[in-house]
Amino acid sequence: MRRPFVKALVCAAALLFGGSVLAQSKGLVAVSMPTKSSSRWIADGDNMVRNLKEKGYSADLQYAEDDIPNQLAQIENMLNKHPKVLVIAAIDGTTLSDVLQKAADQGVKVIAYDRLIRGSKNVDYYATFDNFQVGVLQADSIVNKLGLKQGKGPFNIELFGGSPDDNNAFFFYNGAMSVLKPYIDSGKLVVRSKQMGMDKIGTLRWDGAVAQARMDNLLSAYYGKDKLHAVLSPYDGLSIGILSSLKGVGYCSSQQPCPVVSGQDAEIPSVKSILRGEQYSTVFKDTRQLASVTVAMIDALLSGKQPTVNDTKTYNNGAKIVPSYLLKPISVDASNWKTVLVDSGYYKEAQLK
Ligand code: BGC
Repeated sequence: MRRPFVKALVCAAALLFGGSVLAQSKGLVAVSMPTKSSSRWIADGDNMVRNLKEKGYSADLQYAEDDIPNQLAQIENMLNKHPKVLVIAAIDGTTLSDVLQKAADQGVKVIAYDRLIRGSKNVDYYATFDNFQVGVLQADSIVNKLGLKQGKGPFNIELFGGSPDDNNAFFFYNGAMSVLKPYIDSGKLVVRSKQMGMDKIGTLRWDGAVAQARMDNLLSAYYGKDKLHAVLSPYDGLSIGILSSLKGVGYCSSQQPCPVVSGQDAEIPSVKSILRGEQYSTVFKDTRQLASVTVAMIDALLSGKQPTVNDTKTYNNGAKIVPSYLLKPISVDASNWKTVLVDSGYYKEAQLK
């Protein structure tokens, strides 16, 4: 082919596919996600890739299946491809310092996604939800359903925490306890096992089977004839395990209703459980918003602008206060699931039936 003709062809292609041709030129963004075992992270990954592509970036998305060395190796591998920005939802928030130093040496900006990365100054920004508020919402839903504000009680409650290597787990717990503690102190809520504090109630890697086994033990040790009325659960995957343990000893039946069980992430099995009258509530965190806030940060960073943040005080990672953007979580139960989850376009109603 003659040169001018080739040139014309390339121009025509550029005009036709202008978006994507230019798109590739804005550069690579690496996204490291913790696991595919929970649907929320799959949604996060999908939303990140879609948003990045829409804004003209290419994406390298990898999942580490909750294995810390795996996540480290994936990030090392991503850095070898020279991305412009690295977005990380860490499995263990404290294990990334060396690889982040490498990123900084390469001039790669780092955004902590949903979970704070601890102990490293090489974290530029943090995009997340108001994690303390998540815990407040979980506890509020229990308090309201039990009628504690109307003076009802005493009720028995057991507490579950998230993974102790995830900074968020402490925020969820502290938020929930800011609401529950006064009732525990006044005796209106009774933790018969006396197991309180993240060191006693944490659930490593957010594993539903671990929560189920712990619930089995609590039920057999402390709830022979006494009934359990509520369970603080910080994540839907744990709630499902907790509920199957409860069902195993006769709860969630016509003789014995389910205790009030909270949750987080509005994952489909839990929304279905809420509609069946089993799990009581969950907390919806719109992963579409989280992805779009994160990509807006990336866009600002790469065009020499200051990313928008709305919190510069809360998230001290031990090495610095990481400037953050906090989104609003929403409490969901049988009264509002349709408006929040379906009318917003997050799920189709048929997926929840
Ligand atoms: C996230 C929660 C999620 C949990 C388990 C936390 O870091 O903020 O939304 O339920 O991890 O995946």
